[in-house]
Amino acid sequence: MLSKKFQRKIENFVCSHCGQRVKGAGYTDHCPKCLWSRHVDINPGDRSAECCGAMEPVGVEIKGGEKVIYYKCQRCGFEHRVKAGAEDDMAAIIKLTEQVI
Ligand SMILES: [Zn+2]
Ligand SMILES: [Zn+2]
Repeated sequence: MLSKKFQRKIENFVCSHCGQRVKGAGYTDHCPKCLWSRHVDINPGDRSAECCGAMEPVGVEIKGGEKVIYYKCQRCGFEHRVKAGAEDDMAAIIKLTEQVI
C-alpha cells in the first residue's frame, strides 16, 4: 500500500477484499473478480463519501439484460447499487443472483 489516503481521481487499485489488481476504467468502482466495492460515492461516481468502508455485494438484479449489483456498506450500513461492468466475473454475479435481496 502506498497511501491510505483516498485520492480523487481515476486510478488502478488493489481490491481490499480479494487482492485483485483492478485497472481503473473511468467509472469502475468495484472489483470485477469478487465484486466488492468501497464506500466512496454518495451518488454514483461523485466520490464524496468519507466512509471508505468495504461495500459488500448483497445481491444482483437482472433487468432487461442489465445486471445491477446491490451493495451494503459494512461500516455504516449505506445501501447502494451499480450496474455491473462488462469485465465483471459472471460466476460471481450468478452466485449473487441466488441470494435473496
Ligand atoms: Zn476483489
Ligand atoms: Zn459506509
